[in-house]
Amino acid sequence: MNCPACGHTLSAHEVGGITVDVCKGGCGGIWFDSHELNRVDEASESADDGLLDVPRDPAVRFDHTARRYCPHCPDIVMMRHYFSVRREVEVDCCPSCGGYFLDHGELAAIRAQFVTEELRREAARAAFAELFDPQLAAEAAVSAERRERSRAFARMLRVLLPSYWLPGKQPWGAY
Ligand SMILES: [Zn+2]
Ligand SMILES: [Zn+2]
Repeated sequence: MNCPACGHTLSAHEVGGITVDVCKGGCGGIWFDSHELNRVDEASESADDGLLDVPRDPAVRFDHTARRYCPHCPDIVMMRHYFSVRREVEVDCCPSCGGYFLDHGELAAIRAQFVTEELRREAARAAFAELFDPQLAAEAAVSAERRERSRAFARMLRVLLPSYWLPGKQPWGAY
């Protein structure tokens, strides 16, 4: 599988019970396969600071504005969207398989935004609104596919921000 940003071959990296694909020696990006995220169970989270600074080749240059194709799905262009409530970090998501790509440094930037309890709560509320807002849940417009994508997103948050997922810390109760 090749990096959607720079084309370098991705290599497997174990973190929190899942295997992600990192662009080690290339641009330093990280690919999260939604199927990999699906395998994460609630007790298996662990922090891995190795992902915060994936070894990269500083000589690698690529066009940050270019379209990126999903490394899994032939011919599917990934969508850019804001990851965090502060709308500072954009990530790439495949609309077909639900995988995510983070550029080098984006994970650290996302984590840095969760330094206060208040921000963590705010971010979690935003990420979980779709799952836990009763009004939204009742809407037939919320497709199963969209819900599944929200769950994958929630699982990724759990892997990336393990400290937030200590039992009993969540304002909405058990998840
Ligand atoms: Zn790369
Ligand atoms: Zn895909």
